Amino acid sequence: IIILGIETSCDDTSAAVLSGRKVLTNIVSSQKIHAQWGGVVPELASRAHHLSILPVVETALKEAGVSKKQLTAIAYTRGPGLMGSLLVGSSFARAMGSALNIPTIPVHHMEAHILAHFIEDEIQTPPEFPFLCLTVSGGHTQLVLVSDFTAMEVLGQTTDDAAGEAFDKIAKLLGLPYPGGPMIDRLAKSGNPSAFQFARPVVAGYDYSFSGLKTSVLYTLEKYIAKDPDFIQKNLNDIAASVQQAIIDTLLKKLLQALKDTNIKRLAVAGGVSANSALRKSLIELADKMKIKLYLPNPAYCTDNGAMIAITGYYYFTKKISRTDGHMSPVARWMVGK
Ligand code: ATP
Ligand code: FE
Repeated sequence: IIILGIETSCDDTSAAVLSGRKVLTNIVSSQKIHAQWGGVVPELASRAHHLSILPVVETALKEAGVSKKQLTAIAYTRGPGLMGSLLVGSSFARAMGSALNIPTIPVHHMEAHILAHFIEDEIQTPPEFPFLCLTVSGGHTQLVLVSDFTAMEVLGQTTDDAAGEAFDKIAKLLGLPYPGGPMIDRLAKSGNPSAFQFARPVVAGYDYSFSGLKTSVLYTLEKYIAKDPDFIQKNLNDIAASVQQAIIDTLLKKLLQALKDTNIKRLAVAGGVSANSALRKSLIELADKMKIKLYLPNPAYCTDNGAMIAITGYYYFTKKISRTDGHMSPVARWMVGK
């Protein structure tokens, strides 16, 4: 079975070719245009997808040594995401599928972030069901109880900003380019995580909140900058490390509670922020302490990529699963497991 996976939900145009669960190619073209605006501009994203979708798909097929005629099916991101971006990938995938007379498979982007764990990997084995998954990305922060490929229940989620969004918005306050998450990760490596005590807002249940942290960083910085205009530059590593620590503490608190309450002994993490080195370290410690099995995704499949869409398509195809009752058009909003 050879599946082409197409991902265009936000600002990365990506296409991957999988033979069974094995990745032959995973081409990601990240749009540069947004950096100057400090965040993703939807209309520009859609136009950039238009320019790159054909070359990205062609490169994925060519480098895999696979011809269009050899494809079994095409999986694409149906949602959630930016409508203009989703439209480009979904129209492309459906037109190509129809021309080749092969099935097109609509995929849920956030479920695909989780199912990236099922990609064949030399180091990692896929998690056994059920497991808990902490999904931390640019637009979502969710604790998900994963019972099967489609049976997913969101136990808690952010009530305002996502964890990745918190990284990116705070990075912007610090004058760092978008996306700031990876940059904070790097700077934090030589900083003191307890140099500054930023707020760790508390909300009910397993839900999260990050907008208060951003405000807390803003007010703290303003106070110091009033005394020293170069304060940020002089303390960049310590600020980055302290911000990162606040985000990790917030994430782990609810996670720990959910692990205790559900008594589930398997934990996975997914989404772009799961590439964060300090979060990974903290999760390894937590898993050790709680004697649970931890599944860390290959960093190549943490941020948006076509391979996670293709692997989800692979399972839908082989298990004859439909997530949509035949509805193929893109949707900007779509609840996990619904
Ligand atoms: P969603 O999946 O919710 O629609 P998205 O697809 O934009 O959002 P991803 O591509 O999964 O999100 O992840 C991007 C986010 O991950 C960005 O916010 C980025 O800053 C963050 N990120 C990536 N690498 C790291 C890192 N090493 N440390 C912290 N954050 C990171
Ligand atoms: Fe994503």
